[in-house]
Parts: sequence; C-alpha cells; structure tokens
Amino acid sequence: MDNRKAAMAPQKRIALVAHDNQKDDLLEWAHYNRALLSGHQLYATGTTGGVLEGELDLTVNKLLSGPLGGDQQMGAKIAEGEIDILIFFWDPLEAQPHDPDVKALLRMAQVWNIPVATNRASADFIVSSPLMGEAYDRRLPGYKR
Ligand code: PGA
Repeated sequence: MDNRKAAMAPQKRIALVAHDNQKDDLLEWAHYNRALLSGHQLYATGTTGGVLEGELDLTVNKLLSGPLGGDQQMGAKIAEGEIDILIFFWDPLEAQPHDPDVKALLRMAQVWNIPVATNRASADFIVSSPLMGEAYDRRLPGYKR
C-alpha cells in the first residue's frame, strides 16, 4: 500500500443493487431513507434502478440488469473511481446465475476501499454516519513493491 487517496465529496455517489428476493427489502429501506438518498447521486443495476425510480420517484442512473452485465459495469465504475458507496443486498439463500459477477463486484469494492453494506443493518449504520455529509479521503490500493 502506498498513500494514494481519493477525495469523496459530501455528496456521495451511491450504488444500489438487490437480488430479486431482496428487492422488497431494499425498496423498503430506500423508502425510509428517501430524503437522505435524494441528496446524493444514485446508481443501480437495471431492474433494481427501475423499481427504485418507479416507486420512490428518485432519479437513478441505471446500468444493465445485473445478470446481463450490470454487476460488471458497476465493478468497473468502482475501479474507475465513479462510485463512493455500495449498498448490495445479495441473496444468501439462492444461487445466482451470475455468481462470478457478484463476487467480482464485491471484490472491486474491497480492492478500492469503498464502504459496502450487504444488509439493512449495515446500510443503516452507513447512511447514519456523519461522514455521509462530509468530505472523506479514501485510501486507494497500490501494488508498488
Ligand atoms: P438487477 O440486478 O437490479 O438488474 O436485478 C441485480 C443483480 O446484480 O443481480
């Protein structure tokens, strides 16, 4: 690790992704946090984004549907520094056809050191952090030897 950092602005770029069995949960969570979410920029995989836009009247930058490449697009955005936070309600009880993509998305979030919530409790803790409304210098990976 070297000391490279990326500045996260007070307005965060938040990625929202939910597997089908978790979409109701994410929707309910997003509904509860709608006012807060509306102050940030939202990104989502296709179906999740469509549901959020339709039900909550929020503007969401929608990528492809997850199984069709959306998870990979989101992972690429994280690698390119375009996403600050990942809220990813993945399904722990059902196998996904795009499991390698799911794993790759979570891996990118880990590599690039962005906050990740994978369930409602962790999402609650992230969005209630004072850092949500502040600038934050996020440490970036470096593989210099
Ligand atoms: P979806 O994708 O929002 O298009 O359903 C979710 C996922 O990544 O599986």
